[in-house]
Amino acid sequence: MATTSGSGDGGGDQATAMRRLRMLSLHLQDPSSSEGKEALALAACAAGGRRRATGGADAAAALAAFLRGRHRDAQVRVFEYFQTRPDLQTPVEMSTAAHRELCFRQLCALVREAGVRPLSLMANDPAEYFAVMEAAGGVDISLGVKLGVQYSLWGGSIINLGTKKHRDKFFDGIDNLDYPGCFAMTELHHGSNVQALQTTATFDPVTDEFIINTPNDGAIKWWIGNAALHGKFATVFARLILPLQGKGGDPADMGIHAFIVPIRDLDTNAVLPGIEINDCGHKIGLNGVDNGALRFHSVRIPRDNLLNRFGDVSRDGKYTSSLPTINKRFAATLGELVGGRVGIAYSSMSILKVSVTIAVRYALLRQQFGPPKKPEISVLDYQSHQHKLMPMLASSYAFHFATLYLVDKYCEMKKTNDEDVMADVHVLSSGLKAYITSYTAKSISLCRESCGGHGYAAVNRFGALRNDHDIFQTFEGDNTVLLQQVAGDLLKQYQEKFKGGTLSVTWNYLRDSMGTYLSQPNPVTARWEGEDHLRDPNFQLDAFRYRTSRLLHSVAARLQKHSKTLGGFGAWNRCLNHLLTLAESHIESVILAKFIEAVKRCPDEKTRELLKLVCDLYALDRIWKDIGTYRNVDYVAPNKAKAIHKLADYLSYQVRLVAQELVDAFDLPDLVIRAPIGMQSEAYAQYTQYVGF
Ligand SMILES: Cc1cc2nc3c(=O)[nH]c(=O)nc-3n(C[C@H](O)[C@H](O)[C@H](O)COP(=O)(O)OP(=O)(O)OC[C@H]3O[C@@H](n4cnc5c(N)ncnc54)[C@H](O)[C@@H]3O)c2cc1C
Repeated sequence: MATTSGSGDGGGDQATAMRRLRMLSLHLQDPSSSEGKEALALAACAAGGRRRATGGADAAAALAAFLRGRHRDAQVRVFEYFQTRPDLQTPVEMSTAAHRELCFRQLCALVREAGVRPLSLMANDPAEYFAVMEAAGGVDISLGVKLGVQYSLWGGSIINLGTKKHRDKFFDGIDNLDYPGCFAMTELHHGSNVQALQTTATFDPVTDEFIINTPNDGAIKWWIGNAALHGKFATVFARLILPLQGKGGDPADMGIHAFIVPIRDLDTNAVLPGIEINDCGHKIGLNGVDNGALRFHSVRIPRDNLLNRFGDVSRDGKYTSSLPTINKRFAATLGELVGGRVGIAYSSMSILKVSVTIAVRYALLRQQFGPPKKPEISVLDYQSHQHKLMPMLASSYAFHFATLYLVDKYCEMKKTNDEDVMADVHVLSSGLKAYITSYTAKSISLCRESCGGHGYAAVNRFGALRNDHDIFQTFEGDNTVLLQQVAGDLLKQYQEKFKGGTLSVTWNYLRDSMGTYLSQPNPVTARWEGEDHLRDPNFQLDAFRYRTSRLLHSVAARLQKHSKTLGGFGAWNRCLNHLLTLAESHIESVILAKFIEAVKRCPDEKTRELLKLVCDLYALDRIWKDIGTYRNVDYVAPNKAKAIHKLADYLSYQVRLVAQELVDAFDLPDLVIRAPIGMQSEAYAQYTQYVGF
């Protein structure tokens, strides 16, 4: 086992070196020595709460086998590589400069020494690429993001927005890191509203070049990952301008396109003429990634550097595209970038697993108070603690299956180019990215709090996890904006349904549940409160879908009413919170459906029962949290609401009894967990030794 816990930036600080040595010596310690015995004795005394039920290890192993994705081997290779390289493991404290340098070394080593070729993976089997990205994020979230910038964003723009000539020229250099690059979309004045970007790319027919220009300070490219230090190229999103081709001989604005712009000399790393780069500086988190700001002063690039899959300019300056309008080209361009969101949803789910694992293991170990004259009890035996952590553990499982489904859909989309699948992936990736990252962000704070004071020690990870993860809610699409895309799609489908159209495959449930909704809740089933009924997946799924259908139906009516007086934009804004609730509700029902399917296909009976328990908790906890909505429309009568509450608490207790197995089944190595209080064994001993005893 190689833990990476330690402090200092490795820059000659003696105290830091001593602490690291002590950590290492812990792993080498002879258990028969008196010092070792004392440490173990302390841990054993307090570790009663972690004692497994008979067969617990087998249950965890069987569950881990079921959870294991197709590409677990690729992840294990990443973990094993970093385990052999303590010099590449991220310490607890370090300066921004040292972290950036380390993060780049980690990425270079992964690619050049461990032989991982992420762009090839992405092109051949995106599922393996996402698995590797998740594993890299387990080593250091900054590394996962830096890898994502290089491959999902910069590499992805070449593969998805360029054509053969671009792939031929850039693929290998990106894959082997000879060409580190950036994805320069956001500007100082515009992030979410990409269509309003102001950077220009004006075609010069005389020299057959585009001139990239930053027309004002608001158009400075901002937050660009890899730009402050390591990027040699940037994919720059700019308005394509054709001189003299607009009305009355004005320039024609063809909308946002992507251009490859070299920004640093390949040999000397000097910033190229006409380009200014400044550092966005120290951030709240993710300081291993060098974010920079770029200003262009009439920088000339060859016409070939236009990524021309969706629109091209000929030598004589004529624009051609297979897509008829600026809006369609814009949608196609952004649609090709969904891979980034898939990666963020997947990584966020993984960060949630790490946080929950640390919090659950510690809650099992930690003992406070107890009945009079009896031993103290584990804090996870308090109902309040179960209430905090068990639904979160259940959600980690729910998100696990939902993100695997998203990755499968993404792979299908890449293979088939089917338009319906593309539309599904767009909505699913937006919704799951928004829902999972928001949930994880809140949960990390709750995990920290549930670990009491020791949760506040940096070595126990919650600070870094929370800070590094926080921006997942914003980049690759702000969550509030993404949820509106989900709501917009549902409304579009709803309107089409009423015009006699069909719903896309994934949302077929709306057609059925809409009928149920329109016929009002059944007053008899609204009173059913038996455990069998409440734990019936049909009841649970119907409840989720009923809520979505109801929200959809009512928001459609409200939008219609308000648009008469407020216009489309005003009506949308008047109903915005309602629309966001609709989107979340829909995504929750997709998550539950995927969880239920996973339970059904689990081949081993005992494992299936375990998963069913977790799935029931996920479903009933969600219904209980939104019980007001269900009560308001009499979907559940008061007696049923009470029964749901009672059962959700009881299931939390049941899940607590197998909590250790459930977190062990995530199969996260110590290299990923790192927090001493989250270790599978000797947690207190590791912690005291870290501090210097
Ligand atoms: C660490 C980091 C790394 C990044 N890396 C890159 C990169 O490599 N390349 C790149 O191009 N960009 C990058 N970004 C930029 C990132 O993608 C943007 O910050 C993001 O798209 C959000 O845009 P914004 O910051 O302009 O927020 P805004 O759009 O200004 O949002 C501000 C607030 O307004 C709300 N809001 C905005 N529009 C609406 C609406 N229609 N309805 C309701 N509420 C709304 C949002 O919810 C948010 O709370 C990075 C950012 C950070 C911080």
